[in-house]
Amino acid sequence: MKPCPICGGPGRNKSKVGDCWLLKCQDCRFVYADATDQQIEQVNFQYGEFAEHHYAEVQGGMDYLWFDRISARLTRSGSGLRVVDSSCGNGVLLRQFQKRDCICTGSDPSPWARTCAERYGYALLPRIEEADIEPESFDIITSTSALEHIGRPMEHVERVFALLKPGGTAYFTVPNYGSLPIRLHLVTGRLVNPPGHCNYFTAGTLKNLFRQGGLKDQVGGTRVRSYGIPEIHGLYQRFTKRGAKVTQLSRGAVPGRPRLKKVLVAFYYWSGTPFGLGDKLEALVEKRA
Ligand SMILES: [Zn+2]
Repeated sequence: MKPCPICGGPGRNKSKVGDCWLLKCQDCRFVYADATDQQIEQVNFQYGEFAEHHYAEVQGGMDYLWFDRISARLTRSGSGLRVVDSSCGNGVLLRQFQKRDCICTGSDPSPWARTCAERYGYALLPRIEEADIEPESFDIITSTSALEHIGRPMEHVERVFALLKPGGTAYFTVPNYGSLPIRLHLVTGRLVNPPGHCNYFTAGTLKNLFRQGGLKDQVGGTRVRSYGIPEIHGLYQRFTKRGAKVTQLSRGAVPGRPRLKKVLVAFYYWSGTPFGLGDKLEALVEKRA
């Protein structure tokens, strides 16, 4: 049985989903899939050419607005910031940082990510765990929708902090295992599908991750919060898909009225914050200066 990938504690069977057991750590209560690195790698990292098409289908205008908001929040401290986005895929987030005059680097081992990096003009590295990068060289590191897919999440987060400059900011997002639809057992498949998603964070277990081992000496302010309208049976997606498609948009803004867009994205964000029941979790974590 796999030990807890966060604290190394012993796991106990929690529930079986398909052929895969979900385990719960007896020490820190983290829920994770009882799967080997190879099994996780096999389902998650098939980098066919269909990937770009897939993201073109699933990303809507709201994702674009959301990434715009994230990059605006993270770049308040100045311009010319050095940014790396881990698992950058089609670069939709990096393009928002480019718009704000950041020096952008993506990290993603897939060939289709290479095509996108060339198209939009940012540097591309392999996985940050393996890439040859000078330590403490970035002001901002983002890792969105990645930690739930990574067999060794601690290794990933430790590397992020090694690459951040003192005083720099890391930003992570993951699905919320404590969300309303999951608590009410209204969604399974897309969100609870081990080993595709191999780590199931709640606000508490995500916060706990940044207190492990050598991290607690490096980590300064940490804010973990749920956000995003709780989505039930894809209802909400059906509405937001009417927005512009991300891949049809280049470096400009989403067409439409700017004030309305601001209201929309604020509603999307704040509707998921009460009682920590939103669809996603974000962690904004500073590295000590
Ligand atoms: Zn644990």
